[in-house]
Amino acid sequence: MPKVTSREIEFCYDLGLAYHKRQILFNDAVETAVTALHMNKASASDYIRNVDLIIKGKTYKRTINPEAISYYLTRIATDFGLAALMTALKSVESHIEYYEGLRNTTRHTARQAVSDIRARFVEPDADEGQNAQFQRLVVQSLGDNEPERLARLSKLSGVPVRKTVEVTVFQRNPDVVAQALVNAKGVCQRCCQPAPFTRKDGAPYLEVHHIIPLAIGGLDTLGNVAAICPNCHREAHFGSEPITFLSTAASAR
Ligand SMILES: [Zn+2]
Ligand SMILES: [Zn+2]
Repeated sequence: MPKVTSREIEFCYDLGLAYHKRQILFNDAVETAVTALHMNKASASDYIRNVDLIIKGKTYKRTINPEAISYYLTRIATDFGLAALMTALKSVESHIEYYEGLRNTTRHTARQAVSDIRARFVEPDADEGQNAQFQRLVVQSLGDNEPERLARLSKLSGVPVRKTVEVTVFQRNPDVVAQALVNAKGVCQRCCQPAPFTRKDGAPYLEVHHIIPLAIGGLDTLGNVAAICPNCHREAHFGSEPITFLSTAASAR
């Protein structure tokens, strides 16, 4: 089957979305892609149907390329928000597991596409994008066999490599952080436990988390933040379940 191009991917997302919203019949959507772009009919069917299945969080069986995974997930995040993205991620991850089980292989590029999306949208607080990238390398290393890993380790001096990276971060408003901390009165707005320790200046240590990430259009306002303990904060970004916060209307991972 020929490589599905960026243009075809974008076109199929829009058709798939229209089909998902029942604005167009499935066969008409496929016919449109075949006629307009001379797309291979089988590919068009897969790429259009999967948009619907991914939005619904279902395990799809026919594979799409990593570029399509990135594009679909990015569009779902920006078109529908974080909760929809979480559902979509479940669908894609379960497909990857299904496919890997079937073929007894690891789909590194597909997995990488998924962790890039997670790094971008789900784990957004400042330096955590890098953590997500690092985590991917850890998972990759775990996938290698132990003798190989130990052989690599035995060759190293342990002196860390320095590198300079360029990152785009949102300028957070310090007033929002300060007032969120004042409002929390030293108690985590997730688990209701007191801050686990105090800072050097004696203030209780809590972290201010954006409930809807800034990266997907969440606002830097008191209504969109929660002051939470480091444990709850880690769970908010890396846990498998969505979590909810006290004293705020919104809830998200
Ligand atoms: Zn907590
Ligand atoms: Zn956070």
